[in-house]
Amino acid sequence: MSTTWHVLGAGSLGTLWATRLARASLPVRLIVRDAERLLSYQAAGGLTLVEQGEANTYDVPGETPDADEPIRRLLVACKAYDAENAVAGVAHRLAPDAELILLQNGLGSQEAVANRVPQARCICASSTEGAFRDGDWRVVFAGHGYTWLGDAGHPVPPFWLDDLEAANIPHEWSADILTRLWRKLALNCAINPLTVLHDCRNGGLQQHHCEVATLCSELAELLERCGQPAAADNLQPEVERVIHATAANYSSMYQDVANQRRTEISYLLGHACKVAERHRLNLPHLKQLQQRLIAHLQRLGLPSD
Ligand code: NAP
Repeated sequence: MSTTWHVLGAGSLGTLWATRLARASLPVRLIVRDAERLLSYQAAGGLTLVEQGEANTYDVPGETPDADEPIRRLLVACKAYDAENAVAGVAHRLAPDAELILLQNGLGSQEAVANRVPQARCICASSTEGAFRDGDWRVVFAGHGYTWLGDAGHPVPPFWLDDLEAANIPHEWSADILTRLWRKLALNCAINPLTVLHDCRNGGLQQHHCEVATLCSELAELLERCGQPAAADNLQPEVERVIHATAANYSSMYQDVANQRRTEISYLLGHACKVAERHRLNLPHLKQLQQRLIAHLQRLGLPSD
């Protein structure tokens, strides 16, 4: 009998994973915030995934954090700023051999979760898949991609990667997951905040070449200093390549701000600035970017943490 996948957070990525696992007949249970959300979920009759315009609903059983069943495998699919609290809410249910898969973007939340549940194995993920919610309990699969998984402290891959294979979730076990997470964070810091401040699509940053280049050089210095030289390698050309390849897109931070949603700034630019400070590294442009972004969010009445 396969181990049940408990999915914490029924948002975009949580739904994308839960529905594909359920479709492969693997046991999945969805943990929603509270009894009120559970009633709403049950009324909807399941999770709906929209792929290439076709909607399919999967009747994944739902539960609240205080259900009884022990949790052996937990997919944490909340935003970075919610992950630690959400995991704390189910910590009492974790089995001694529990494994957590952390889907959060950026860095900082993974460490906070691991400290909260030191007995559990925490596996970090970095994903290029894209999904968004177009209704309650309904998610559109917007961009095919890949998910890299890894455990910085323990290089042996878990046997349940077979489940991902069966569920057609493209993935790869990564021995250098921290490097991947840092590289993605650096790309994000060089692009996303500027798209918000200049109110433009990614391609609009082609008009701000010097500003981008200065940020890349400070970010590369930071990556070198914190023992991630591979993540610093050729950062600027890659940032330019991404800006060009995604010229027509709005960055995720731009979309969060445009939709008046909280951003994950503290786990992206905020984390970079915090680590720079810890290393007593003076990165004036990065620091100024953070201050400008915080002031901008505050002017819009959005949380700046
Ligand atoms: P999302 O759509 O906002 O979903 C987050 C879900 O977590 C929401 O359903 C929320 O519940 C739930 N949640 C929060 N606190 C909870 C708690 N205490 N108990 C139970 N559920 C709780 O977020 P997302 O877009 O899937 O993003 C998740 C992470 O993946 C982020 O770090 C994001 O940067 C990263 N990521 C996302 C994508 C993407 O395409 N979406 C791609 C790559 C990486 P409510 O519904 O009740 O608010």
